[in-house]
Amino acid sequence: MIQIQSVYINGRFEQAHGTEIADIISPLDKSVMAQMRYADEVDTHKAIKAASKALLSFRYTSKEERKAYLKAIHDEILKRLDDLIEATILEYGASQERSKWSNLLSASVFLDQISVLDKYSFEKQINESTVVMEPVGVSALFTPWNSTAGSIAVKLSAALAAGCTVILKPSEFAPRQAAIIMESIAAAGLPEGVVNMVNGRGEVISKAFMESAEVTKISFTGSTSVGTILAKQSFDTMKRVTLELGGKSANIILDDADLTKAIPMALQAAFMNNGQACIAGTRLLVPESRLLEIQKQLVIEADKLKVGNPLTDKVDIGPLASERQYSRIQEYIRIGMEEGAKLLYGGLGYPEGLEQGYYVKPTIFVGVNNQMRIAREEIFGPVLSVIPYSNEDEAIAIANDTEYGLMAFVSTGNEGKGIKMAHQLKAGRVLVNTLKHDPLAPFGGYKHSGIGRENGVYGLEGFLEVKTLIK
Ligand code: NAD
Repeated sequence: MIQIQSVYINGRFEQAHGTEIADIISPLDKSVMAQMRYADEVDTHKAIKAASKALLSFRYTSKEERKAYLKAIHDEILKRLDDLIEATILEYGASQERSKWSNLLSASVFLDQISVLDKYSFEKQINESTVVMEPVGVSALFTPWNSTAGSIAVKLSAALAAGCTVILKPSEFAPRQAAIIMESIAAAGLPEGVVNMVNGRGEVISKAFMESAEVTKISFTGSTSVGTILAKQSFDTMKRVTLELGGKSANIILDDADLTKAIPMALQAAFMNNGQACIAGTRLLVPESRLLEIQKQLVIEADKLKVGNPLTDKVDIGPLASERQYSRIQEYIRIGMEEGAKLLYGGLGYPEGLEQGYYVKPTIFVGVNNQMRIAREEIFGPVLSVIPYSNEDEAIAIANDTEYGLMAFVSTGNEGKGIKMAHQLKAGRVLVNTLKHDPLAPFGGYKHSGIGRENGVYGLEGFLEVKTLIK
């Protein structure tokens, strides 16, 4: 049985002090693919000590030194790309295309932070004062299971560029990908204690972080419910907090949109990453006048999507990540039916012939109104709700009538009109006629989708404190 490493402290992998052993189940066939011994609070306190000690010198490293470390990590991740892609498929169930894209991105964001450092001045003059940007200190980085390498890379690259030392707390449900990333970082030759990792139960590890005044920053990506708990706990020791949380993004199709482009894009926005994406466009807002035409087009395009085993087939949608995810999605499909929404596509149960893994049917509901639970709650699987609107003001009102605000999408034949609408949407990112990702532009949410922004210079500044010097 493969044993996955869960603890890296002071430049060494070591056996966890924790005694709990967890099976890691492959979503492709529900088999036990590996085991991991969970780290506990003893491991975490040890990692905090290591990061605190390393901070004494790492905070004073020059831009050139940090750039060299970032470049070395980028190079080492690329050397492990095939392993990472394989782990993302076996452990998580992502399609080959998605695995490749997301893991390549996890390498390239380290180069992005080099380009940020090239332009960034840690000292500026404001009025009569010198303003100095200093590393915030020892940082605890929490990441979710649906975007392991990417989330680690975005946080870690910014923290290191800022001169912080870190303790990674990856999701215990995606430990193989996290261990490979950690092995890549270990190979990059950073000083001991600059990057540490403890993987295990979130509540156990976070308790140790919260008890420690030495941890001065929490950067968390995950669910809104856990992010809220951590934010409240952080206040006791005044830790700085960045939260990247859940979403229920609206995708507005305007009446002048070209449906041959808008509908395939809408399905991709809803079902990307097997529907397990914080940014997924899961509420499709469509003009009443074109409802029937859009429904017809949705079925035609959904029929083209291939669900299957990403290891052996070229598929668009692989299995969900876990038994828990499978049951959750079945439950939401049931809720949608009970609420009176109508199934246009998909539904309950396994797709035919795919009972061996956590596969679900990509599902589209019509007859949805924005007060239904399937329109308000983050389902986190391939379930799309189609909501009609009668005019553009109503579309904007429906889009904004949510507790979330991570992303929004607009499809229109008139880009100017789309941009005007984007200004009225309460979301951290709005994509007009595109699904493009810009890794250097800020990413984060309004409302319950988070606090703060990541990526590029905004990401860097999330790991900096501001000091004013007056002489
Ligand atoms: P989660 O909140 O359950 O877990 C995230 C991290 O927190 C993991 O490392 C986990 O071990 C830890 N954790 C879990 N419970 C904890 C607790 N009680 N105390 C302390 N730590 C705890 O989230 P998840 O299920 O891993 O990920 C899915 C969620 O993440 C979705 O809501 C998704 O929208 C969100 N997400 C957001 C973004 C973004 O950038 N905004 C990106 C990816 C995922």
